[in-house]
Amino acid sequence: MSTRRIEFHRHALNEEDIAEVTRVLHTLFLTSGPVGKRFENDLADYLGVAESVAVSSCTTGMFLCLKAMGIGPGDEVITTPMTFIATSNVIIHAGAKPVFVDCEPDTGLIDASAIEGAITDRTKAIMPVHLLGQMADMRAICGTADKHGLRVIEDSAHGPECSRDGNRPGTAGDAAVLSFYATKPLTCGEGGAIAVRDAELADELRKLRLHGMSKSAADRYHKAYVHWDMELLGYKANLPDILAALLVHQLGRIDGQREARERIARRYEAGLANIPGLELAAMRAESISTRHLFPIWVPAEHRDQTLVRLQELGVGVAVNYRAVHLLSFYRERYGFERGMFPNAESIGDRTISLPIYPALDDEQVDAVIDAVRTASELWQ
Ligand SMILES: *Cc1c(COP(=O)(O)O)cnc(C)c1O
Repeated sequence: MSTRRIEFHRHALNEEDIAEVTRVLHTLFLTSGPVGKRFENDLADYLGVAESVAVSSCTTGMFLCLKAMGIGPGDEVITTPMTFIATSNVIIHAGAKPVFVDCEPDTGLIDASAIEGAITDRTKAIMPVHLLGQMADMRAICGTADKHGLRVIEDSAHGPECSRDGNRPGTAGDAAVLSFYATKPLTCGEGGAIAVRDAELADELRKLRLHGMSKSAADRYHKAYVHWDMELLGYKANLPDILAALLVHQLGRIDGQREARERIARRYEAGLANIPGLELAAMRAESISTRHLFPIWVPAEHRDQTLVRLQELGVGVAVNYRAVHLLSFYRERYGFERGMFPNAESIGDRTISLPIYPALDDEQVDAVIDAVRTASELWQ
């Protein structure tokens, strides 16, 4: 195999995106203005939702959703321990209690059939995560939510390009929150957006993202100065036009890039079949994944050695994710222990993410497959 290192991730920004940033830098609006507005409209059209609200990160976007829905102290929110810490952290930031439900053993997605058993009279919302880029079972989750009068906030940080049973992010839940963090399929380094079906919720989120002000900077300086009012206690979570500039053209390319990742995923699936002790995440029928991450699940007792070995062999790797309930803060604050969510623990102990991004060529994908085969000697 080639001795050149294969990075875990490379972004796919191009000169068109960079030129748009330069153009914005020559205009009046560096902060939130016309470019962000254009992006919000284009994203809503892309997803088939009424509106989208651009924010500074997915984390902050999920937090604003909880605030907009009036969720706080005394409330419980159901989510999964097989996610990035942001999902459950924002529930705590809002003052509510995160209640975990285990994930499915073969996909890592929240087990929709186990949600009902976790509902109490304090439960206010469900936060499913579209893990790896595959959508959670929104049909079942929204059915349960409707029956119990709960809100649904989708953590769609792993990209907007997914669909399942005809649903897309934001079309079934009350809100779907995207991340434009550096490694995500659609990126501006740091940023996010909330896709919503309800215009009133969008208005509330727009106020919450900017101090609860009745007018944005662009509204205030459009013509002559006009007074603004503060209607509620908001935050500072707007996305500046300098960053939105990186997103407007990229949005038109993400489906092609998803297809490139799909081809890489299929090549991995073919090349990694039949390695004893190695498992791949399952895909559901009627499901299109963003293919944001491609994990291999190896024997738990050999995972950390395998991470080291793959890096020695020149392959960049990551772990997405170790189960959230076993992290120190969660253990100490809530008394979580090993054994409580066995499927999330099993995946968290075994998972290793391989490189998957459009710039990877077949030769590199084959080199990664060879490296995994070599590393698998550790547990054979
Ligand atoms: C990246 C990520 C987030 C956080 O996104 P930010 O934009 O960095 O706040 C939340 N949830 C999941 C599942 C993620 O992968």
